[in-house]
Amino acid sequence: MRLAVIGAGMAGILSAIKLDETGLTDFTVYEKGDRLGGTWRENTYPGLACDVPSHLYSYSFALTPEWTHRYSPGPEIHGYFERVARDHDVVRYMRFGDEVTACTFVDGRWQLETASGHRDEVDVVIAATGVLHHPRYPDIDGLDSFAGACFHSSRWDHHVTIDGARVGIIGTGSTAVQMVGAITERVEKLTLFQRTAQWVMPQENPAYTDEEKASFREHPDHLMTLHSNLAEAFGIFANAVVDSSSPEIKMIEDACLANLEDNVRDPELREALRPTYRAACKRLIISPNFYDAIQRPNAELVTDSIERVEPAGVRTHDGRLHELDVLVLATGFKANAFMRPMRITGRGGITLDEAWTPRPIAYLSISIPDFPNFFMLNGPNGPVGNFSLIEVAELQFGYIMQLVDRLRSGEYREISPSRAATDALEAERTKAAEKTVWVTGCKSWYLDDRGIPAVWPWSFERFRAEMREPTMEHYAPR
Ligand SMILES: Cc1cc2nc3c(=O)[nH]c(=O)nc-3n(C[C@H](O)[C@H](O)[C@H](O)COP(=O)(O)OP(=O)(O)OC[C@H]3O[C@@H](n4cnc5c(N)ncnc54)[C@H](O)[C@@H]3O)c2cc1C
Repeated sequence: MRLAVIGAGMAGILSAIKLDETGLTDFTVYEKGDRLGGTWRENTYPGLACDVPSHLYSYSFALTPEWTHRYSPGPEIHGYFERVARDHDVVRYMRFGDEVTACTFVDGRWQLETASGHRDEVDVVIAATGVLHHPRYPDIDGLDSFAGACFHSSRWDHHVTIDGARVGIIGTGSTAVQMVGAITERVEKLTLFQRTAQWVMPQENPAYTDEEKASFREHPDHLMTLHSNLAEAFGIFANAVVDSSSPEIKMIEDACLANLEDNVRDPELREALRPTYRAACKRLIISPNFYDAIQRPNAELVTDSIERVEPAGVRTHDGRLHELDVLVLATGFKANAFMRPMRITGRGGITLDEAWTPRPIAYLSISIPDFPNFFMLNGPNGPVGNFSLIEVAELQFGYIMQLVDRLRSGEYREISPSRAATDALEAERTKAAEKTVWVTGCKSWYLDDRGIPAVWPWSFERFRAEMREPTMEHYAPR
């Protein structure tokens, strides 16, 4: 059996390690970038860190005593993925600098084409192409006319000096908040353009002491306990957000509110930073230092909406020109661009664009009717939120391997979900989404074009249970 994995981010590395372990060694991991790491290769902005604890944001089979902080910085996370891939000797499967441009299902196998003109033919495709991958650029008049440096947060330009510069940031998501905390004391002036105030959960980010690290090294079982305790704690959060009336949401809201009341001194600024929707409706912000940073004398929070960008800076609707040397677009990602712009053609010539009009849908976010033997990690409508996507990918991979085993044993030649099961699950999913916190009156990247959360709306236990074993009646195997 030959396989292709598309993408060498967290999920692609995981796939390579697990396939290699299972003895399925005839595969290639295609990666369009020049290095592995995905998100953690692309994002290099100052202040980048994970916002779930590092000991949770780790592969369960590669826990490490070496994390420097509770929420370790981006370069360290990237280094972790590189080290794990090297230690498991899977870099040799990776073909860098080659983008898969097309996958076509012909006579029971997938034909792949890459940007370099390379061709491959495989039995199984595992798409690990990422969710927060394609930058979303804002549609603002005059953006191209800006005379200073302007870039998306995931394309940070390290040739540009921000020390002593006047820096503007558009956006107030996790990325913007991390940047504000990291750069405000370095720049001459920091201007944060806010459309929506955020709930900010206070979280200290202490460094692990040498003693703590030594103790983790000496007692690997403590690391395992820490990992599972954190998974359990974050599972509570995952369950809370799917029930907007849950006491946990109220507790989160109270903690964020206390953070705002206790730590923002100026009443006017406090009101400007006060969210007007439920906590966790948008991805919850975790920060040890955002409120401190935005209260520095050289920081300004601008809540007037942006009218246009001019060569000298950003003009807001109140007529003010905010003069800037650097403009950073912390405006997020096209979260529904899954796998694009690859041309994917399934059984009978159906294209992914046809199958996903008007919007992406997948059975358990893993597979698509009429796209046999094609499986996604972190695909559409899956669990997202403030927990570890590594755990999600590990559970999904375990599920996919059970299907692959059925192909490998010859039990089936083609496995894809039935349309009836996919449609029924999707109907149940959109109904369940109605009682989640994501529909309580905010705009967020979780919502699809209808305003329905394009995410897993059930408990994390249900996700674990679904991933335990495929229900073969929901498939239309051949
Ligand atoms: C700033 C930021 C902070 C985050 N923090 C957290 C966090 O704290 N906790 C958490 O759980 N998650 C976090 N995430 C989400 C994060 O994206 C996931 O945790 C994880 O890194 C996703 O891994 P992935 O392999 O699925 O996708 P990615 O890391 O996006 O990797 C996908 C890879 O596929 C490659 N690729 C795509 N298309 C093709 C193609 N056609 N051909 C070849 N290669 C292709 C890309 O180049 C990329 O390397 C964060 C995301 C961002 C952007």
